Amino acid sequence: MKKNKVFYLYACCIPVKGSQRSLIMDIQRNNFYFIPNVLFEILTKYRTKSINKIKKIYQQEQAIDDFFDFLIKKECGLFMNSLSVFPKMDTGYQSPYLITNAIIETDRRSQHNYTNIFAQLSNVNCIAIEMRFYDFIALQDLIKIVAQTYDSTFRTVNIFLPYSAEYEQDAMKEFLLQNARVQHLIIYNAPQFIFTEEEQNSSCLEYVPYTMDGSCGHVSPRYFRANREMLCESINRNNCLNRKVCICKDGSIRNCPAMVQQFGNIATCDLKHVITQKTFTKLWNINKDKISVCSDCEFRYMCHDCRAFITDSNNIYSKPKKCNYDPYTTAWN
Ligand code: SF4
Repeated sequence: MKKNKVFYLYACCIPVKGSQRSLIMDIQRNNFYFIPNVLFEILTKYRTKSINKIKKIYQQEQAIDDFFDFLIKKECGLFMNSLSVFPKMDTGYQSPYLITNAIIETDRRSQHNYTNIFAQLSNVNCIAIEMRFYDFIALQDLIKIVAQTYDSTFRTVNIFLPYSAEYEQDAMKEFLLQNARVQHLIIYNAPQFIFTEEEQNSSCLEYVPYTMDGSCGHVSPRYFRANREMLCESINRNNCLNRKVCICKDGSIRNCPAMVQQFGNIATCDLKHVITQKTFTKLWNINKDKISVCSDCEFRYMCHDCRAFITDSNNIYSKPKKCNYDPYTTAWN
């Protein structure tokens, strides 16, 4: 009989409590399900209690049955005799990379030495770079720059280019086929939206009719990610700035392109030295639980943070400015 059993919530289903409601973050399916806060309490405070005992505590037989029926239907768990052989998932955060992602900005005035930049990023084990071009660059010149990544630690290279008639589809598709590290090529300010995916190497070519500016820091359910990497990083670190670096148009080293503070120039500084200084890493430790309002939000472990655009410029712990969700009313304004 199920009344003497306990409910095992799968380790990949993480209950997260918000001010007015909670949710279950299903990191295996990249999905989430809203639940009332009382079910969060049942799944955490009373997780080892039998169904019978839970019903006695709440004096709500039918409602408790409905809760567990909902969880079974969502394939979030099952009834067991004991939870003793099911430890909770470790949500600690570790990374072998000093830097995981880097943005490299370039405009017509930039005097980047890409050999130096790529070597310095490889020296900190960077695995992904995003190259943002603000002015036209000839395809032949782009090919020469990307060729310099061949001996790097980068697994992926994403590129943003301003639209030009020179970037016609066949040429760009050929570029993607010849440069397997380039996973995503986005041509912005394009006359129309076009999306193609290369079957051979799963790379994407996108022409988008909007600019590059203005999207940074924007918070929307469209950008939520419910996976283990996001969960663990969000619980322990700042999920936007942790282990990220930006090499700006003028070569200055910053936490992100939208931040004003500079930490020297890539042309003259040792990047590894710069990114291991406390002044550079101090923002890495501002996790969502330390940020006002976000700390009460049920989305906080799947929602990207932003420290560049915040509601109170005098309070580095204030809510991201471009978020219009209110966890105290559960309304998107
Ligand atoms: S309140 Fe914070 S955690 Fe919630 S959606 Fe907005 S930015 Fe994300």
